Amino acid sequence: MDFSYSEKEEAFRQEIRDWLAVHSRDLPKWWFDPKLKRPDTDSREYHDFGVWWHKKLYDAGFVGLNWPKEYGGRGATLLEQVVFSEEMAKARVPGITNTIGIGWCGPTIMTYGTEEQKKRFLQPILKADEIWCQGFSEPEAGSDLANCQTKGVQDGDHWVVTGQKVWTSGGHFSDWAILLVRTEPEAPKHRGLTFFLLDMHAPGVTVRPLRQMTGGSEFNETFMDGVRVHKSMMVGERGRGFYVAMGTLEFERSGIGAAIGRENTVEDMIEMAKAMGKNKDPLVRQKMAQLFIEGNVIKYTGLRALSRQLHGMTPGSESGVMSYFGMEWNQRANDFAMQIQGPYARLMRDSSYAIDDGRWQYSFLRSRGNTIETGTSEIKRNVIAQRILGLPRE
Ligand SMILES: Cc1cc2nc3c(=O)[nH]c(=O)nc-3n(C[C@H](O)[C@H](O)[C@H](O)COP(=O)(O)OP(=O)(O)OC[C@H]3O[C@@H](n4cnc5c(N)ncnc54)[C@H](O)[C@@H]3O)c2cc1C
Repeated sequence: MDFSYSEKEEAFRQEIRDWLAVHSRDLPKWWFDPKLKRPDTDSREYHDFGVWWHKKLYDAGFVGLNWPKEYGGRGATLLEQVVFSEEMAKARVPGITNTIGIGWCGPTIMTYGTEEQKKRFLQPILKADEIWCQGFSEPEAGSDLANCQTKGVQDGDHWVVTGQKVWTSGGHFSDWAILLVRTEPEAPKHRGLTFFLLDMHAPGVTVRPLRQMTGGSEFNETFMDGVRVHKSMMVGERGRGFYVAMGTLEFERSGIGAAIGRENTVEDMIEMAKAMGKNKDPLVRQKMAQLFIEGNVIKYTGLRALSRQLHGMTPGSESGVMSYFGMEWNQRANDFAMQIQGPYARLMRDSSYAIDDGRWQYSFLRSRGNTIETGTSEIKRNVIAQRILGLPRE
């Protein structure tokens, strides 16, 4: 590992700190105090709060750090992006809101889209004036994404789209979606898909929130019944949608912010254990130290990947290992939080006796999805076995 921050990067750090010192005061009290009631994370109120904070970050020039300047981004260096993630995590303030738009949809449009699409969509994505979601998964297409069955039939200048997507995160607040559609039923399955931009308010689109075990409804079923999509909304070539989608999934954000988030989780857990009089328990101490060690292993693995990138190499095996281990860590940490709480673990936020307004219970239940959402642990292990260990394909 070999890198250090330049003067320019340290100046950027100071700029962020100065901005946060002033503007984090505008955040509601419940953001910082886990004991206070907060709106449900799937509510319109919480969403509007996220958009409000996002726009403040945008006005300060802190949105789209890795986007090129020509598309309204900051064109920041990799290390500036790391500095930003570090400072945001240290200050424990919310991140941006239009994460799928900025992390995946925007970069896909920049890379594969037409000039018209870039002009029409990129700026509203950055400003969170239009919220985006990802319509890839279907009831029979998750890990095996090429199995998408949503059908598109050409009708003049339009494609008529019919089918169902599932697990569409944030679909209930979204204005647009990136969509995989089978347009060539006769072609081999990987070559029969086309990538479209879908207006979520178009006639024939129905979004139905799914109730999760957390009690919230963060993702949805999205039904399309004869939705007319203009041909100008096609991204990339007809029949090449699977490859565009693979490109989309490659746009992964730096994991360094998450590494600091892990340190925050351990710190909060120590506070919780203290408040419950459990911090002197030798088993609790052992386990806390173990989580801290593992958190650091993930962090330094991430920094090694970063160092490789700074020296012109690909992130290498480290990024796959970090993504897998990080998600599994979240689950282990939340399991342990439940163990510390003992009988209190059963109390959710609707109970006035719930510890920290039930935030640990929420995280525990939500963390079940961590080993599924960006590719399941089994699929990630398959990729490591194949690409890193050189084992044969299944
Ligand atoms: C919180 C959350 C948010 C999500 N958000 C979105 C979203 O916004 N948009 C979207 O399109 N999708 C989204 N998804 C869907 C997600 O991408 C899929 O759930 C994921 O790809 C797995 O697909 P699946 O659920 O169909 O499971 P399946 O692919 O059916 O897998 C079922 C089980 O079989 C295992 N398995 C499958 N294939 C193999 C194999 N080859 N080798 C070994 N084991 C295998 C899996 O690991 C898993 O345990 C989200 C999911 C979650 C949990």
